[in-house]
Amino acid sequence: MAGMNALTGTFRLSCPRHGEARVLLSSFRQIGRLAGTAHPAVYRVAFGCACGGEHAALLTQEDLDVAPLGLIAHEPFVNLMTSRGGDLRDELTAIAGMRIGAGEWPWSFFCYLEDRPRPVTPSSFTLIAAGSARVAVAVACPGCGSISINVCTRAHVDVPFVNDARIGVVPHVYAADALPTVEAFREQLGSSAFDERRLELEQ
Ligand SMILES: [Zn+2]
Ligand SMILES: [Zn+2]
Repeated sequence: MAGMNALTGTFRLSCPRHGEARVLLSSFRQIGRLAGTAHPAVYRVAFGCACGGEHAALLTQEDLDVAPLGLIAHEPFVNLMTSRGGDLRDELTAIAGMRIGAGEWPWSFFCYLEDRPRPVTPSSFTLIAAGSARVAVAVACPGCGSISINVCTRAHVDVPFVNDARIGVVPHVYAADALPTVEAFREQLGSSAFDERRLELEQ
């Protein structure tokens, strides 16, 4: 299975050509939960690789939702301020815990059906299409189950706790079983047919 470097925000996945690929979340293209998996839930991911190909990987829910926050990998490091060796996980756990406690959330999106922003985690992203500057993400709402398409910056997807202040929302409600095709989805990136919404989560 995969590894994750929370400092660089990259997943370490396998590439049949180069052995290992370092992949940002915004380079994922499809994320789908494997039927019948629960403890842990396992997701099949298709990602765009630096080699130019598209490969598949299997990730657990923890890999997708928790590892990017630095809460899993034990990467020993030297604290530059004190020159003491330490466990990076403890530092990152403390930081993530403080920010979530203060009402910040690592990822958020705008649910079109409910007309409100909501916190979310990457396992709820179902389709991702990255352009040069913007990324379109189809998100299955953890609250109501409908699927909304948001258009945002790469950092909004790739960097936990970085949330765009305003986000593009495609004015259409998708049912979970009626997603647009990957091609139609990619076209959303180039179109101007989306509304802008503020993305501040209510505290
Ligand atoms: Zn590759
Ligand atoms: Zn919703």
